[in-house]
Amino acid sequence: MAASRAAVAARRARAAVKADVARGTRSPLDVLRAAYEAPEGVEGRLRVTEFLISIPAIGATKSARIMQELGISPAKRLGGLGRIQRRRLREFVADWVADHGGTGERLVVLAGPTAVGKGTVASYIRRHHPEVRLSVSATTRAPRPGEVEGEHYYFVDDEEFDRMIAQGELLEWATVHNAHRYGTPRTPVETAIAAGDSVLLEIDIQGARAVRRAMPEATLVFLQPPSWEELVRRLVGRGTESPAEQQRRLETARVELAAADEFDHQVVNHDVGEAAQKVVDLMRPRKGRR
Ligand code: 5GP
Repeated sequence: MAASRAAVAARRARAAVKADVARGTRSPLDVLRAAYEAPEGVEGRLRVTEFLISIPAIGATKSARIMQELGISPAKRLGGLGRIQRRRLREFVADWVADHGGTGERLVVLAGPTAVGKGTVASYIRRHHPEVRLSVSATTRAPRPGEVEGEHYYFVDDEEFDRMIAQGELLEWATVHNAHRYGTPRTPVETAIAAGDSVLLEIDIQGARAVRRAMPEATLVFLQPPSWEELVRRLVGRGTESPAEQQRRLETARVELAAADEFDHQVVNHDVGEAAQKVVDLMRPRKGRR
């Protein structure tokens, strides 16, 4: 009895997910994210074909053709897809969303572990690719020598940061390294996307997760160190930190590296110019890249 009641409830929950996608109140990318995160959850138990058919303008025939092209067998559930199938399906859906008025590939988030060189890659892009719009974050930390207000950050005090949160002005925000708060102002990002421009966010991993929740169609790029040894060298190399602090940073980096799988693309930071080019290439519309 209990088992059959649970089965009915699960079926209803899956039907609700499909209805939301069909009505356009939930992005299909958000359903994929939930399914990949929890393969045994409601979304994970949804059959790929039912998921596809719930997307407006995709019918049974089209769904069968798409699945054949993606190499997915008809009985598969979203949670049961292999790594490559997951990526292919996500790319297909991201293209579909882009073609139907979503933000598509236009919001790109660059994140990665501490000391991997995200800031250096972002600065390189700022200097060499003026066509890329880099989001300027607000932060409560003090400016470093050479940093320019409104170019590198908006430097604000705690009170102003609190106000920005309260007014809903931040797309995401996080406390980084247990010290200062950093956040992405919402309006410039939304205005740029509405105008058809691409925007790059260089933020930490918590921020990347928050962007994915707020805008599921954002593209998440993970910057990888060339090796663990190299990351250790960059983290402890300066010798200015105490052994306890070094240990803490290594522990943080290890946890952060484990988040790589949540990202859509990985770029290895062997060489700053090369890594920057790869990120910029990911910002071009996918169709142009093929
Ligand atoms: P820094 O103080 O060295 O400029 O940056 C420290 C960290 O804060 C970096 O990991 C950077 O990616 C992150 N960060 C910068 N801006 C933002 C933001 O707007 N949101 C979040 N979540 N992290 C940010």
